Amino acid sequence: MARRRLDSRSGPTGLLGEIQTQISTDVLENHFDITGELGRGKFAVVKRCAEKATGKVFAAKYLKKRRRGRDCRAEIIHEMAVLEAARNNPRVVNLHAAYETDHDIILLLEYAAGGEIFDHCVSEELLPEAQVTRLIRQTLEGVHLLHQSGVVHLDLKPQNILLTTLSPLGDIKIVDFGLARRLGAVGELREILGTPEYVAPEILNYEPITTATDLWSVGVIAYMLVTGESPFAGEDKQETFLNVSQVNVDYSSEAFSRVSELAVDFIRKLLVKAPEDRPSAADCMTHPWLWPPCPGLEPTLPVPRTLRERSSGGKWAMPPEDTEDKENLHDSPHAKRFRFDEDAPVFTEGDL
Ligand code: ADP
Ligand code: MG
Repeated sequence: MARRRLDSRSGPTGLLGEIQTQISTDVLENHFDITGELGRGKFAVVKRCAEKATGKVFAAKYLKKRRRGRDCRAEIIHEMAVLEAARNNPRVVNLHAAYETDHDIILLLEYAAGGEIFDHCVSEELLPEAQVTRLIRQTLEGVHLLHQSGVVHLDLKPQNILLTTLSPLGDIKIVDFGLARRLGAVGELREILGTPEYVAPEILNYEPITTATDLWSVGVIAYMLVTGESPFAGEDKQETFLNVSQVNVDYSSEAFSRVSELAVDFIRKLLVKAPEDRPSAADCMTHPWLWPPCPGLEPTLPVPRTLRERSSGGKWAMPPEDTEDKENLHDSPHAKRFRFDEDAPVFTEGDL
């Protein structure tokens, strides 16, 4: 395997420069049939393709090497390096191979056939809360593992959380690591990044970026999945930014008419201005909202010992009791177990 070294450590911007994946100069189309477009951003097009030899389907992300007249190869190498670092994270899409043409570097990614969870935020029919909690739990599992490895995503939004299958609703896969950064290597990270509706207040204020920045976005995603509304979207960018910096969120009963108190409590704890007051991904995973009463919905990744310890420390003050949602609080063996969890499974760091 070729090893490319542009920079031995992450640089002052938190970019990684070392990759293991060989970038092939073979013509991708000689080996794959392109069968459609899956998505498009400013500098990337993602196409569905099938390997000629095996019929196996992948998503090919074509990334422009030059953007606004500037060579952006380093950014693409960084995106690949982050994907490689997350190879063992089951909630992150897998990088299979890479190709290069005169204009693009093409990342051949694991195909997430179920589309974006965004479709479920804007659909006439919202997902039942038990499905939402499953998707949020899986998102937190992925984010927790990223944060453990010192990586922040910084562009978590419903368009970047995909599903393995649509019907039945599959598992989530996090994509789009173009804005992800390595924290802690050198000094503080302050950059204007992200998408207005999903961006955290500290980014607007040019304050330090931390793992808590991603947790804000998880709060926004949870809000959108349960209400079908974007909490901070204004008439224009300026109004959106103002809503974010003032944490101007609609918790009215119209928006939350069919939403449990526990869901509101979860969201309220994430959409707080001070990053240090937001729970970590690990803390979030112990929130009682995420452990619904259905015995079939077991955690798909282990809950580490540190979470059990933290969860008994009273991080989650109980929300006001909702008579309509009592079973979530009182009848759920999981909710009880993850708050007072004498018998919760014990896992080592190595399991993660
Ligand atoms: P951009 O940086 O342009 O936002 P993304 O990596 O987010 O690029 O990809 C754009 C869109 O393409 C996604 O929002 C999604 O709809 C689709 N997409 C990306 N990766 C995959 C994948 N692995 N499987 C299926 N669809 C994908
Ligand atoms: Mg994207």
